[in-house]
Order: sequence, then C-alpha cells, then structure tokens
Amino acid sequence: MVKAIVGANWGDEGKGKITDMLAQESDIIVRFQGGANAGHTIVNNYGKFALHTLPSGVFYDHTTSIIGNGVALNIPVLFREIQSIVERGVPTPKILVSDRAQMVMSYHILFDQCEEERLAGKSFGSTKSGIAPFYSDKYAKIGFQVSELFADEAYLRDKIANVCVQKNVILENLYHKPAIDPDKLYEELMEYKEMVAPYVCDVSAYLWEAVQAGKNILLEGQLGSMKDPDHGIYPMVTSSSTLAAYGAIGAGIPPYEIRQIIAVCKAYSSAVGAGAFVSEIFGEEADELRRRGGDGGEYGATTGRPRRMGWFDCVASKYGCRIQGATDVAFTVLDVLGYLDEIPVCVGYEIDGQVTTDFPTTYLLSKAKPVYETLPGWKCDIRGIKKYEDLPENCRKYIEFVEKHIECPITMVSNGPGRDDIIYRK
Ligand code: GDP
Repeated sequence: MVKAIVGANWGDEGKGKITDMLAQESDIIVRFQGGANAGHTIVNNYGKFALHTLPSGVFYDHTTSIIGNGVALNIPVLFREIQSIVERGVPTPKILVSDRAQMVMSYHILFDQCEEERLAGKSFGSTKSGIAPFYSDKYAKIGFQVSELFADEAYLRDKIANVCVQKNVILENLYHKPAIDPDKLYEELMEYKEMVAPYVCDVSAYLWEAVQAGKNILLEGQLGSMKDPDHGIYPMVTSSSTLAAYGAIGAGIPPYEIRQIIAVCKAYSSAVGAGAFVSEIFGEEADELRRRGGDGGEYGATTGRPRRMGWFDCVASKYGCRIQGATDVAFTVLDVLGYLDEIPVCVGYEIDGQVTTDFPTTYLLSKAKPVYETLPGWKCDIRGIKKYEDLPENCRKYIEFVEKHIECPITMVSNGPGRDDIIYRK
C-alpha cells in the first residue's frame, strides 16, 4: 500500500516526525519532489537530526530510502548527509537514486544567489540552494539527468558546451560574474558520477515491483500546499509541486496506488519566506510562540532563519487539506500551545468587507484580514498522554473545533517531537 505524507500549510508542519514514525511499518520511503532547500527535523534514539535530502525513514535498517525522479538532486549534499548520519552511529542506509532524477549543478546555486542579489528587497526569500534555476532548466530541457553521467564523453562535452553558451551570456552580461569553464563543468559531473554510482537505479521499475509485491511505501513530501506552484500563493511558492498527486509523477508510480494521504497540519501557523500570511502575529506574542514552538524553537532547519508565526488558520488549512486530497490529518505540535490562557483561531478572511472561508488567489489574499474566534486554553503540559480521552477537555475542544472547520478527520495528534509522542483517533 502506498501512503503519502504531505504538508497542508506552508511547510515545517512536522512531516519528518510523522514519516519517521510511520516508517517503522514501511518497507520503502520515497522523496518525490523538492531539494535540499528545506529540512526535516527528526528526534529518535540516535539523537536529533536535520535532514535535507534523505527521506526521514533512513534511520531504520529494514527500510529502503529512495530519491525519486522528481527531486532536485544535490549530489554532494546527499553524499555528506549519508556520511554524517553514519558517523553518528546510524546503520549504513540502503539508498536508491532514480536514474531519471536531475542534478542541481554548482551554477544553479550561483544563479540563485545572483538573482536574489539582483532582486534585493523584492526577492522571494530563496534559500539560495539553486532550486528555482534547477527546475527552470529541467523544464527548459537543458538539465542533466543522472543517467547522462553514464553517457559517453563526447555526448556530455557537447551538451556542456551548449549549456555554457546560454549560461555564460547571462552570467557575464546580467550578473557580471566570470563565465563557466566547460572543462570544469565536465570535472564536476565526473565527481558526481563517482559519488552517486553505487546508488543509481531504475526507481519506477523497482517501485512497480514493490507495489505488485504488496510492500508498504511512503511518499514523503517537502514544504506544504501553500508552496505549490499551481495551487499555492504564487509567486511566493517553491518550484516543484508539493502535492500528493505529484507523488505519483515524482516517484514514477500509478496515481491510483496512493491509497492514504496524510496531510500534516501544525496546531498553530509558521511560514518562511515572503508572501501573504493572514493570521500572522508580531512582537512579543510572536516571539514567545517562536521560542516555545517546535522542538527548540521555530527556526529554519536549513537556514536557521526565524520563522514567521501565526495562529491556526482554518481557511488556509481547509484548502490545504482539500488540494492535497487528504484522507487523514496529523495534527502536530499541539503540546506547544499549553502555555496560553486563550487561543485565537482564524476562521474566516475578510476581503473587501465580505467574510469568506474559501482560500483566495494571491491578489485577493493580499487584501484578506483574519476573522478570529478565541478558544480557552488548557494550561498544562500534554506531553506523555497516550489516549485521546486523557487530553484536557479544552484541548479536545480545540482539536474538534479545528476538525470541524477544516472538514477533514484528524486521526493523529502529535504531542511531542519523539516517535512515540502520538495519539491515534479513530
Ligand atoms: P517538516 O519539514 O514538516 O518535517 O517539519 P520540521 O522538521 O521543519 O519542523 C517541525 C519541528 O517540530 C521539528 O523541530 C520537530 O522535531 C518538531 N515537532 C514535530 N512534531 C512535534 C510535536 O508534536 N511537538 C513538538 N513540540 N515538536 C514537534
């Protein structure tokens, strides 16, 4: 059976923890989109890890971790990440990399940096990991696929020469940077070849067989619904689809095999990067939630940037779950809210004097003002609780209030960062 674990919000909802937890009963975990621009934080018996490229199931010795064709593959980052977990005592993981995955090249990172500098104050808040230039090249059909590393030298050199002509015009004339040397680029590719060779696989054929054999497969998404280039807050989005539906494409499996879609929703909101964020809060109120949030504060796993904070947004989350096609919601980081006397929840957007619960397109979103309802807090620590009935009444009311407004069943409640901090609901 194939399950997808995806974000219903802006990312950083705790997908890594849910994936790590469900990986216990899974055979294969697949990353199907995105690159090393966002991270998952995982706490388990080996310690605390921030993963950027490896799937979050990599800590078990019974799982196979797969980098699907939809990923923006940064080979040196993958290589370093494998080394860093092995150095900390994790058994050498079984990793497969799709021969159809494309590679983030050093010039993608350079272009990302140059473009952010050029845009200055109007930038999109890129993590400068090369993701937008990478996907632009993929769809402009000038990207490098892993399979091409194994092509003959003449073919590769010819392609490199072509790519350099185009890249160098922009580098020299728009960004005023030195041109790319085609020989250096060839060397770069050969280094990547050496690093990735042991892992390369026809992933979609491998997964097809695994599906036939009834294996349990998890598709692990990066970021969340709001960052999807089609259905999110364009243009303040990422460059690959963050939706479960894309899991079929980015892993190479039939779409109808995805039987369960777990949308991970955080009990309050946080976001990184630019863009409208209707239920955003500021000042001391935001600082306190940021300080207490997640596991050790709401700061980016890749960049260390402080995340923007806000109250739970039912409008964005209802839409986020619908667009993911969620069958289940995993409601995370609920324990963090235990310090509040009262908890505001955004239940509607007021746009031009009208209140709506439908998530609008970006232009209208920029005019939206939050409509809040305030719920009483539960004023205690709920970590360690294992049964839903044992949660304080106000905490259950908060969960049930959110469930009603997002119109999707909350079947899991996460009350701590660890694997076992989970409460299942029917
Ligand atoms: P992801 O990108 O969706 O995997 O999310 P991140 O890993 O970036 O951010 C989630 C943060 O919340 C991490 O630091 C997790 O360890 C932490 N976390 C996940 N679930 C819970 C929870 O239920 N309670 C608390 N306190 N922290 C959690």
